[in-house]
Amino acid sequence: MEEEKKLKVLISEEELNARIKELAKQIYEDYHGQEITFICILKGSIFFTVELAKRIPSDINFEFIRVSSYHGENSTGVIKMKVDLQGDIKGKDVIIIEDIVDTGRTLSYLKEYLKSKEPKSLKVCSLLDKKERRVCEMEADYVGFDIPDKFVLGYGLDVDEKYRNLPYIGYYDNV
Ligand code: 5GP
Repeated sequence: MEEEKKLKVLISEEELNARIKELAKQIYEDYHGQEITFICILKGSIFFTVELAKRIPSDINFEFIRVSSYHGENSTGVIKMKVDLQGDIKGKDVIIIEDIVDTGRTLSYLKEYLKSKEPKSLKVCSLLDKKERRVCEMEADYVGFDIPDKFVLGYGLDVDEKYRNLPYIGYYDNV
């Protein structure tokens, strides 16, 4: 008989809010209140991008990129550009806003791609980091939470397009 799956909370909504507030303060101070361009990596980073931006009292421009590297719970290792930048980031202070760094492949690819657009500066801010899963060198400049090697859901993160609207980060303890 198939064991019933139980969704557990890894990071609560309160913990997310508190940490995002800290990250926002740090980013605001690091950029001295200057304008920043956020590149939101769709779809997983939408919640994080919005909640972070709301707490930074500077001008923030938004750009969106969508890449695909996952099917269900398995990484294919192949990254495809699905939605590209609309605006010009040349000479801008840019921060890539990501939901999670796992193998690091997506961000390594994106950093190289975005560097070719000649921003003034390029940093990475990721809500979650699964360092033990890394296959390529990739350090985010800002990290919300280091998490263990679990497949997580919610707060933008999905399994086959479901669970994104959970207000917390959860996982199934028997997966
Ligand atoms: P990477 O290229 O670093 O291996 O993977 C980055 C992307 O894989 C993330 O943006 C996210 O879409 C997906 N991913 C990695 N780990 C998880 C996870 O634990 N849960 C979910 N839902 N997606 C993940």
